Amino acid sequence: MTTLDTTDHDDWLAGIHERLKHTCDEQTAYLSDLTAAAPDAAEAAAHGALLAGTRQSLADTVAALRRIEQGRYGACEVCAAAIPLARLELLPHARTCVACPR
Ligand SMILES: [Zn+2]
Repeated sequence: MTTLDTTDHDDWLAGIHERLKHTCDEQTAYLSDLTAAAPDAAEAAAHGALLAGTRQSLADTVAALRRIEQGRYGACEVCAAAIPLARLELLPHARTCVACPR
């Protein structure tokens, strides 16, 4: 895995933090649109699934932001190994390393 010195890592983490905040804002706005929508009976199931999925994504994003604030970001929640930076760049809200299932 790539190693970064502390300054580079801080910059990198600040970038991830920005992306997560942006995602959080987008998902919050999307969620309020979804909540405001009144689907008819035929669309209710799909709407419910979309709502649940968006709530889950938002929860993951908020949890990742909290981990950054608490200085715990980037450690796998299952085995505590460092999650590769490339994986975090692809999936900033990743909770586990590649080897561990969610
Ligand atoms: Zn792991």
